[in-house]
Amino acid sequence: MFIVPESEIAGLIDRDASFTAVESVFAAMSSKDAYNFPVIREAIGHADALYGFKSGFDRKSLALGLKSGGYWPGNEANGLTNHQSTVILFDADTGKVKALVGGNLLTALRTAAASSVSIKHLAPKNAKVLGMIGAGHQSAFQMRAAVEQRNFEKVIGWNFHPEMLSRLADTASELGLPFEEATLEQIGSDADVIISITASHDPILMDAHVSGGTHIACMGTDTKGKQEVDAALVARATVFTDEIAQAISIGECQHAIANGTLLEADIIELGSVINGDHVGRSSGGEITLFDGTGVGLQDLAVASAAVDLAVEKGVAIEVDF
Ligand code: NAD
Repeated sequence: MFIVPESEIAGLIDRDASFTAVESVFAAMSSKDAYNFPVIREAIGHADALYGFKSGFDRKSLALGLKSGGYWPGNEANGLTNHQSTVILFDADTGKVKALVGGNLLTALRTAAASSVSIKHLAPKNAKVLGMIGAGHQSAFQMRAAVEQRNFEKVIGWNFHPEMLSRLADTASELGLPFEEATLEQIGSDADVIISITASHDPILMDAHVSGGTHIACMGTDTKGKQEVDAALVARATVFTDEIAQAISIGECQHAIANGTLLEADIIELGSVINGDHVGRSSGGEITLFDGTGVGLQDLAVASAAVDLAVEKGVAIEVDF
């Protein structure tokens, strides 16, 4: 088996490779070539941590395996990333373990790639203003991947903890874009694309905030009980997701589904747009919303790409196992 340590990932896989891997696996999921297994996610009652497994199989690429890890909110104070994860890949023909791959940077890259894929396929073509809600670890990755999809001229942002906004300002500056702190009302009315990436358990962006002609990528809600967007806004939007089963149970859709204002049948897989089976955005004034719940197959896709690159570059550690 191969080991690809966390420290090697940055030198192996970039945003382009992550985007391609995620776009392909969303397409494979929609054409039923790939499927995710049920997610296990537990509050373990220690260190305030959420821990679990995401797994699946892609019959096209033969990626089989799981990502194990979760969210330790106290880590950052100790110089560690709050998200900790490891991907294990198996040989689909034999069941033998194939690779152990550091999953922290991969998680950020594949999550940013997911919203970037949604922006490519759903955002207004002439989008100029990017609105960011959230300024944590993931937010910088999200911004960098988003700006590759449209000719954005400005980034505006809001965060529950305003002292963290410097991360958004610094990232925008690195990308050569002006950044302005904004209210949620300003984000709702001025941004053409909005990304929400927070750990919130209450709605932040309300229905009344958003005027229309907007694409919203909801990326923070990946657990039962979390919420970033008003259920009425979800009900008003045309809703797309990575996986419908996750959207209704652990994603942003869970709340509108629970109050009966959104039906499971109304939710569209982003993969069907990628495959050309759904038109995606159908009018300029429409609100499209991507519920990016984060599926195990995304992790397997980027980890497989990283292993191939590591072997090619001679940095994969081979172990007799
Ligand atoms: P982080 O801990 O670095 O940052 C947390 C962010 O949430 C900050 O912007 C913080 O101000 C905000 N926040 C915290 N408490 C809040 C509250 N009560 N109300 C509103 N905002 C609040 O976390 P991160 O690594 O940037 O991850 C952000 C979120 O994204 C987490 O919820 C994480 O689980 C989720 N996530 C989702 C996926 C996916 O695939 N969908 C992948 C990775 C992370």
